[in-house]
Amino acid sequence: MSQDRIRTVAVVGDGPAGTTLATLLARAGLHVALFSRGRPNALVVGESLVPAVIPLLRELGVEDEVRRYSTLKPGATFVLGPGHSFEIDFATSCTRVPGYAYNVPRDRFDATLLAECEKSGVRVVKVAARVARDSGDRVRLREETLAAAGFEAQPDLVVDASGRARLVARLLGLPTHPGKRRDTALFSHCEGVPLDRDGHVHSDRLEQGWCWRIPLPGRVSVGVVAPPGVLATRGETPEAQFDAVLCGDPYLRSLAPDARRIAPVVRYTNYELSTLRGVGTNWALVGDAFGFIDPVFSSGLYLAMHSARILARAVLSGGRHALSRYEARHLRHLSAWRTAIGYFYDGRFFALLQMRDRSERSRFGRLVNPHLARHLPRVFTGEASAGRYDPWLLAALARAARREPGVDSFGIRDA
Ligand SMILES: Cc1cc2nc3c(=O)[nH]c(=O)nc-3n(C[C@H](O)[C@H](O)[C@H](O)COP(=O)(O)OP(=O)(O)OC[C@H]3O[C@@H](n4cnc5c(N)ncnc54)[C@H](O)[C@@H]3O)c2cc1C
Repeated sequence: MSQDRIRTVAVVGDGPAGTTLATLLARAGLHVALFSRGRPNALVVGESLVPAVIPLLRELGVEDEVRRYSTLKPGATFVLGPGHSFEIDFATSCTRVPGYAYNVPRDRFDATLLAECEKSGVRVVKVAARVARDSGDRVRLREETLAAAGFEAQPDLVVDASGRARLVARLLGLPTHPGKRRDTALFSHCEGVPLDRDGHVHSDRLEQGWCWRIPLPGRVSVGVVAPPGVLATRGETPEAQFDAVLCGDPYLRSLAPDARRIAPVVRYTNYELSTLRGVGTNWALVGDAFGFIDPVFSSGLYLAMHSARILARAVLSGGRHALSRYEARHLRHLSAWRTAIGYFYDGRFFALLQMRDRSERSRFGRLVNPHLARHLPRVFTGEASAGRYDPWLLAALARAARREPGVDSFGIRDA
């Protein structure tokens, strides 16, 4: 790695990772150009935040604005089946981050972060950036992209924040870690979908797969997640498949008989993929362009913005090894969430919540419960997901959860 002192940075991508990074670097005095090509759909997934995002919003100075158009999210509800649900309440779980989060309309959220970039002195270039492979491990902006950025020479660092487009990783053919599952998500906005708890993100186990309910102002975002083969049996188009699950799944039908879709359906298929390298000679990856994982715990925006913040610190510290440390830290962070997500699919997440709630009813349980209740949610709120102790404790508890009554029937059903 040759970047001892980085002065000019090109950021490719205008999602939360790119805009957070660009703002932090520009505020520190670097010359930053950010490329924004716009989204093909007004509906964008990533609407539910975890509490650990709040300090980042405050650091960027945008929390007040975000609050004005968002729904306050005091916790998360996980539904195993009719009448059988568990809650994580942020106010009682969070100690080092605020005890709440928000559900955000993504178009407005992204626009807020982009406006903050411009206020901070970032040159926002509204075109799709094009990048080419240079000699060895280097990349360069193509001529027309370089001209649009307004740099006199190639920037010291090119940051890929292009999300699932993975511009640099694909260009260089970087090695990847694919996820275990190949699910498809169909997502839209609905009316007439009730909630168990106001403001909570709800994750409901369905007859096949699972779904989310995210309350937004005036509507509820609903996403259905299942293996593609399961959805293919429900209809030809994404709309037909989504509507068939909404009206046909026994749990959803009884929960929301008056549900009505009020937006088109967007399908997401490429779902989980991490790149095993995050930095190179003159490039770095951030957010989904580095790695994206299953969305069940609403971790994506936190991972994107947190990776941007630690990358910004690495760039500003300028040391030769700082970027390598960024890479290692973020790979560990992705791995901690991936492990936690595995517990949702194999049933141990519900078993852990059952252990937490059941232990309140025995004397020994009351003794250990405060510890369990305090530490169990801390990975899922993001408060401690980047640390070492809580992910380790969660893994130890998950081993114990294998013995929990019912655990074998708590997993997500695929067929
Ligand atoms: C089904 C599903 C549900 C999800 N739900 C949640 C959730 O509830 N909560 C949560 O936190 N996360 C969720 N996520 C994850 C979340 O959406 C992402 O992690 C997050 O958007 C990543 O931010 P990013 O900035 O890295 O990338 P993105 O948000 O994808 O932004 C990348 C941007 O770069 C632009 N771009 C790409 N190529 C170029 C180019 N060449 N030039 C210029 N611009 C370019 C793209 O158009 C895009 O605007 C979900 C993901 C999926 C698939």
